[in-house]
Amino acid sequence: MYECYNRKLLRIDLTARKYAQEEIPPELIENWIGGMGFGIHQLTNEVDPLSDALSSENKLIFSTGPISGTGAPLFAQTCLVTKSPLTGGVTNNYCGGELAAHIKNSGYDFLVFEGKADRLVYVVISDGTVKFVDCPELAGKTVTETEEYIKSKEGKELSTAAIGLAGENLVRFASVISATRVFGRNGAGAVMGSKNLKAFAVGGDCGVRIHNPVAFQETVDEIFGVLQKLNEAPFSLLGSFSQFGTGAGMPMINANYTLATRNHKLCHFEDADKIDGAAYLSLDNVKTRKVACLGCPIHCGQLHYFEGGRFKGMFTRGPEYETMYSLGSNCMNNDPEVLAKAHQLCEDYGMDTLSTGVTVAFGMECAEKGLLNPKDDGVDLKFGNNDSILQAIEHIAKRQGFGDILAEGTKRASDILGADSEQFAMNV
Ligand code: SF4
Repeated sequence: MYECYNRKLLRIDLTARKYAQEEIPPELIENWIGGMGFGIHQLTNEVDPLSDALSSENKLIFSTGPISGTGAPLFAQTCLVTKSPLTGGVTNNYCGGELAAHIKNSGYDFLVFEGKADRLVYVVISDGTVKFVDCPELAGKTVTETEEYIKSKEGKELSTAAIGLAGENLVRFASVISATRVFGRNGAGAVMGSKNLKAFAVGGDCGVRIHNPVAFQETVDEIFGVLQKLNEAPFSLLGSFSQFGTGAGMPMINANYTLATRNHKLCHFEDADKIDGAAYLSLDNVKTRKVACLGCPIHCGQLHYFEGGRFKGMFTRGPEYETMYSLGSNCMNNDPEVLAKAHQLCEDYGMDTLSTGVTVAFGMECAEKGLLNPKDDGVDLKFGNNDSILQAIEHIAKRQGFGDILAEGTKRASDILGADSEQFAMNV
């Protein structure tokens, strides 16, 4: 297994704008197998648990597993470990797509970002070197704009991970996005923003060493075949993911009365079938394309293009199931177009759709009880007013008015708003 690793960690010091390559001893890889194991081991050894997650003391560790980048199905994920500014604990996030393969191909297994740049920068890792690029022109840009800009400057063959305005504004549930996949949870995007790191791009042509390539490929082919058969089997969960995306699970969850609805007060949503995975495929004005992580035959991702309707011309990379409940049923939103728009706003600003939806629903209940006054900012935030979800997302990402409170997440917002709000502030 040790052979599959490049056995190298790249340490990037944003404060000094320096980098160093470190050899990884075999016992570390043996004892802490995989992206999560290694990432958590490094973080807990290198970062003081009492440090402020948004200070320069925190680190961002992007780690790959032993067979990342080989094309083996279901092993495309990169793991991102950091101290969460939302929970204060260690968070490990996973992003599919092709980032892990590009990290491996760059000649490293793990990337550690530490310190804090004095200005907004992006970092390019390729050909054994690291370049730090000042990028004031990218301030406030969406993730997609940032990705396109960096690829146009540095090379289309590179893979990127970037933050949007929410990360720059230290929204505590900001995400990090790589192409169509997201490190969504627990505010890793805010940690990146706190370091003035807008994005990084990585790539190379090192490849991944395999001990016995023929036997490995035979095994990969066998697993691929099994997954394909499961995909095609009637009533298969994988098959439904393949057809409808992760939103395929929503009818089952709703039927079992476990669908978070109206800020988790209810567990069943009458209009769930208007916003689930099948609902998007039935919309006349939407064209859908399926997308997969490297080597995966399930292709649970869905890209939607709205060729008509209220948001004509909109292109979205979801929504996934988590978004359907958080910004859908949990906010009593039964409009698939508004839901898709809400999802896309979160992607543009780089915010976790799950925490955003739960926080907006909390804000709706606070407004209902007179604890929060979004009307002062011109927003009638309430369950059933679907457009107010879009306005709330804008206010949170920009930290405007009531959005500045909600950008702190439900726990801290509840501490600010007081009264009995902690009773209905969903958090861990
Ligand atoms: S396409 Fe879906 S099922 Fe396949 S690896 Fe990516 S996230 Fe997992």
